[in-house]
Amino acid sequence: MKAVTYQGIKNVEVREVKDPTIKNSDDIIVKITSSAICGSDLHLIHGMIPSMPTDFVIGHEPMGIVEEVGPDVRNLKKGDRVIIPFNVSCGTCWYCQHDLTSQCDNSNPHGDMGGFFGYSELTGGYAGGQAEYMRVPYGNFTPFKIPEACEIEDEKLCLLADAASTAYWSVDHAGVKEGDTVIVLGCGPVGLLAQKFAWYKGAKRVIAVDYINYRLQHAKKHNKVEIVNFEQHENTGQYLKEITKGGADIVIDAVGMDGKWTEMEFLASGLKLQGGAMGAIVIASQAVRKGGTIQITGVYGGRYNAFPLGDLFQRNIDLKMGQAPVIPYMPFLYDLFNSGKVDPSDVITHVLPLDQAKHGYEVFDTKTEDCIKVILKP
Ligand code: NAD
Ligand code: ZN
Ligand code: ZN
Repeated sequence: MKAVTYQGIKNVEVREVKDPTIKNSDDIIVKITSSAICGSDLHLIHGMIPSMPTDFVIGHEPMGIVEEVGPDVRNLKKGDRVIIPFNVSCGTCWYCQHDLTSQCDNSNPHGDMGGFFGYSELTGGYAGGQAEYMRVPYGNFTPFKIPEACEIEDEKLCLLADAASTAYWSVDHAGVKEGDTVIVLGCGPVGLLAQKFAWYKGAKRVIAVDYINYRLQHAKKHNKVEIVNFEQHENTGQYLKEITKGGADIVIDAVGMDGKWTEMEFLASGLKLQGGAMGAIVIASQAVRKGGTIQITGVYGGRYNAFPLGDLFQRNIDLKMGQAPVIPYMPFLYDLFNSGKVDPSDVITHVLPLDQAKHGYEVFDTKTEDCIKVILKP
């Protein structure tokens, strides 16, 4: 079959790889119909995730049609439509039973964290879903079965595998409630969707921050938020603190290890460069009110350990973060999309054949062609 494979830094190629097969009795094989590219995939191709082997199949936001089921799979059969969340989850361990499906104890033999699809050996070594077919373990728990009567398009549904569910979890986990002022750092797919969900939760003011103009304009147009371009302010954190009269109740970091600046460049600038990962954390720490909450959804790892801990401590800031446990949110969000109460469609700017994955990665990474979210169609 054909699949998107990692071939080194800033290099993905669609290659011919072996078809997946059933390994465990509760595995399923899914024929992929839509598969999104995520900001987390950019960390992979920027070389931020160690232990990413060449030829590894990428992708963790897929959906498709069940092709084959193992003998112990109970509720799925060939032909069912399914969404495959990025969490590989057994459904029976303490974490899965307590809605922390991103920390499943049985899905990652390689480390003290959950298993994820398409994300190197670090997250369990599961081949990803930017491919014609994928093997999905724990077929009785991990996949989300789409109701037969569903009329929602594939492209929208695959957002439930990660981007939309993660965005919703971000505002829920942060505790966004009626009357809150919320700042969302980052206007990529996750940030834009988090802005929608902040309104949905009753926020009275939502401010979006980025430096890519078309993304800020998109936020203004589709999410009706106030926008702040951090390149237009000497000190964006202080500016945000001023316009929110002491800081926001909640700041959501939907940035993570942005590829534009390394932390060395950031430190060398005397903390003046505001973009990128370190920039987002510093802006968040200044823009949150005393006793407020910073929700870190952007992915950090490895060498990103320098942290303005003292300041956060002195101001009683609650820090929340983590890999989103998306599985428990999927039924609710499916209903939300189905009812039309929240429509995520505007973030999908590129729908490309799998063969054009290289181009998809390039425009998503370089923020060209007004790209926000790319969906690949095997
Ligand atoms: P993206 O790369 O499209 O979006 C990131 C945006 O942040 C870009 O528009 C960029 O210009 C902007 N940015 C860079 N520096 C900034 C700063 N200092 N302040 C404000 N904006 C800044 O990616 P995405 O798909 O939207 O994902 C966002 C982040 O969420 C990534 O780090 C991704 O890995 C992470 N993520 C986490 C989870 C989870 O479970 N926690 C799940 C999915 C994605
Ligand atoms: Zn992702
Ligand atoms: Zn588990």
